[in-house]
Amino acid sequence: MPEPYWPKRKGSYTLAAASRNSQFARLRCRYCKIERYYLIADLITVFGNVECDDMLYMRDWRCTSCKERNTLDMQIGDPPAAVRQQIKIRKIDRIEYVRKIIWTDE
Ligand SMILES: [Zn+2]
Repeated sequence: MPEPYWPKRKGSYTLAAASRNSQFARLRCRYCKIERYYLIADLITVFGNVECDDMLYMRDWRCTSCKERNTLDMQIGDPPAAVRQQIKIRKIDRIEYVRKIIWTDE
């Protein structure tokens, strides 16, 4: 399992910077070993241009298989061509905005 190659210190590597070198990010659950590829452009749409290290701790991001939190690792990097044929890319299907009204008594 290769280590992510971006520097680990704060303020060092954002999603936009990562997207200049790669198209994809791979997220892998340490617990159930499932991995999925995401387009970095999609991640920027959802999270904004945040630091790669911070993204996994935002928005209650958790594994869709085991439902556990804090089990995900992210690696920036495009899959090799041979692997690219076999994997599925998880892309944004749609974004739904919820309008929530909160009443107050005066
Ligand atoms: Zn999992």
